[in-house]
Amino acid sequence: MTSKTPKTGLSDNLLGFFEDEAAPPLAPETTDHEAMADHCPAPKAAGAIVSVLVPVPTNRPYSYLVAEGNEAVPGSIVRVPLGPRTVIGVVWDTEPDSEIDTKKLRAIQQVYDGPPINHAIRRFIDWVARYTMTSPGLIARMVTPVASIMEPEKPVNGVRATGQRPERETAARTKVLAIAEGGTGWSKSDLAKAADVTSSVIDGLIKTGALERITLPTRPVADVLDPDHNPVALFKGQEKAAETLRSTVNEGSYSVNLIDGITGSGKTEVYFEAIAETLRAGKQTLILVPEISLTAAFLDRFASRFGARPTEWHSDITAKHRERVWRGVAEGNVNVIIGARSALFLPYKNLGLIVVDEEHDSAYKQEDRAIYNARDMAVVRAHLGNFPVLLASATPALETFINAEEGRYNRITLPGRIADAQLPDLAAIDMRANGPEKGSWLAPELISAMKDTLDQKRQSLLFLNRRGYAPLTLCRQCGFRFQCPDCSTWLVEHRARNIIECHHCGYYARKPNQCANCDGEDTLVACGPGVERIHEEVMELFPDARSIVLSSDMFSTTKRLKQELAAIERGEADIIIGTQLVAKGHNFPKLALVGVVDADLGLAHGDMRAAERTFQLLSQVTGRAGRAGGKSAALLQTYAPDHIVMKAILAGDRDAFYRAEASQRKQAGLPPYGRLVSFIISANDKASAVKYGQHLRTTAPADPRIMVLGPSEAPLAVVRGRHRIRLLIQAPKTLDIQSYIQNWLAASQPARGGAQLQIDVDPQSFW
Ligand code: ADP
Ligand code: ZN
Repeated sequence: MTSKTPKTGLSDNLLGFFEDEAAPPLAPETTDHEAMADHCPAPKAAGAIVSVLVPVPTNRPYSYLVAEGNEAVPGSIVRVPLGPRTVIGVVWDTEPDSEIDTKKLRAIQQVYDGPPINHAIRRFIDWVARYTMTSPGLIARMVTPVASIMEPEKPVNGVRATGQRPERETAARTKVLAIAEGGTGWSKSDLAKAADVTSSVIDGLIKTGALERITLPTRPVADVLDPDHNPVALFKGQEKAAETLRSTVNEGSYSVNLIDGITGSGKTEVYFEAIAETLRAGKQTLILVPEISLTAAFLDRFASRFGARPTEWHSDITAKHRERVWRGVAEGNVNVIIGARSALFLPYKNLGLIVVDEEHDSAYKQEDRAIYNARDMAVVRAHLGNFPVLLASATPALETFINAEEGRYNRITLPGRIADAQLPDLAAIDMRANGPEKGSWLAPELISAMKDTLDQKRQSLLFLNRRGYAPLTLCRQCGFRFQCPDCSTWLVEHRARNIIECHHCGYYARKPNQCANCDGEDTLVACGPGVERIHEEVMELFPDARSIVLSSDMFSTTKRLKQELAAIERGEADIIIGTQLVAKGHNFPKLALVGVVDADLGLAHGDMRAAERTFQLLSQVTGRAGRAGGKSAALLQTYAPDHIVMKAILAGDRDAFYRAEASQRKQAGLPPYGRLVSFIISANDKASAVKYGQHLRTTAPADPRIMVLGPSEAPLAVVRGRHRIRLLIQAPKTLDIQSYIQNWLAASQPARGGAQLQIDVDPQSFW
């Protein structure tokens, strides 16, 4: 292993960590080395003790005995007893506990005969666990296969005609044979059905020797992808970018590459070329997307380029299919995987490229159980596997932007929109001067633009990032507000479903017609708009227009949602009212006008990323317009037209905005120039949470470089009946904050009174 230090390209945030001694060394092997390293170690013979990582939240792997016939190497997938159960685990590299009483050890029950999980993946799991301060077992659990992986895939039995005629022919037998002779093999039930006979007829033919039993080939888990199936002729700027990416892929070593270009500039088409090149090299690609259920159009586009769809990985696929995909990935039969966060932890045999689409999207941050940012961890995975990673976005995360500015990431810029598609004309509507009439939400200027668009038979989109009818129900007589019984949130009215609902825990009740406090009747008023309320206004203004609400709660199934999206794409709606569901990657070719109902919404909660997030969201939404050519417009309703975010959006000057944001963060020592970790303490009663928070505060080891803020009540003070207290730790990015926190927690008392501590490294949300 040669050590390779400089220009790692790793995000600054993660860099310090790599140089830490306890962390994995900075010397990624090539993929070939990886494979070799796994084949080198002799299997542990019977009687040896090995570590096995089991999918439970423990801090370290457990020790097991190797039994006769179950010799294993690091990475072997094994079945082991754990308490009263058996679980699937992975043989780990850690030295087993030397103190252990060998008499108490239990033995590995079975070793999976598929390929072991390779070295880079094992290091990756350890790395993520240490960085995020999560137990490695919890990380591994996200993709540990189910027990049936241990069984070889069941062959499907079938029959085939032998050409021999039975002694006694009946009409039914003749019919079966006529059909069977035409094919290579049939399952018994399919053949019986095709010939419209009972299965006993088939059995009879097997007895006479006219049919023989065979094993049918199983349908492959992934279709063959052809890198040269249907390449698109690229435009000049695209071709240059594609050329760079092709050589990056051919070089094959670690690099981070930002594909930077506005929406509709052809980024997807360009990274398809990198995928094609990876396929040619016989390696696997992972495409990470923020929201897998919204990728139907993408999958079709991929299929038209490569001849078949990529293989999907998400929580909706059946257990059986999951297992087949898992196996296909491990055995190298699946070449391109598309998935959300957890697809990162699949046991790739030969991963050669990761693409992170819409890399700025906050959906990449998983905030429950294992708390990690899949975009950042994709960079780490590429580093450990020594292959390139591509980040694509029109509005990169500020971290990514700075990494590109400072040369740690390669920047590949696409010049502008494809063909004659122009960006929309942008304008603000100053709600203070030109706002809507009382009791309505759309300003006259926006209404008149919608009317023009309608006259031209083109589509309008009204964007409001708020589901339901109204965010608050208030009693006009006594001032009572309907609140969630388990959370410190107001209940949101959903008129279409006739309920009031909590958007944090899902609690709901029938929509009340009486005040719960003063029993007043007809005293309840809905405050503020949600998409349903905007829809109501649209229907009053344009009764003849076809309008539709697109919001995640309006569709019972993703299939239904996909159908609606397709219908809109075909032009079967004139006015679309949508939440951020519509901001994410949909291409509505006929969209000519975007109206942002409340452009200030995201700025209300002033956390450190509010401006950045609002900028990204507004760029994304307004960028939906005019993708297929023709003039288009976007109007932002705002009470703060002079806010830096509005000015940047209107001026179209992204980089100036990013630089201004960056300099503010730098001054404050905030990410990516500094490092933050959140402690979220929760308990069933407030006193226990506060007490534990205070205890942690007082036990924080003194270090002049570290600032501990809090404890303070979380902005979302109660969720699902749990009271929440937060501490925020701020440190320079070069400091090994994980070690600091480990020492801290070791010196403090464990939580009492049912209090729980959640650690969020690099927090995105501050609720
Ligand atoms: P982005 O990913 O930057 O939003 P896309 O790759 O989706 O951009 O391209 C925008 C639109 O332009 C898509 O409809 C795409 O099919 C089309 N397009 C991109 N590149 C080409 C090309 N070289 N020739 C023809 N159409 C293209
Ligand atoms: Zn609630």
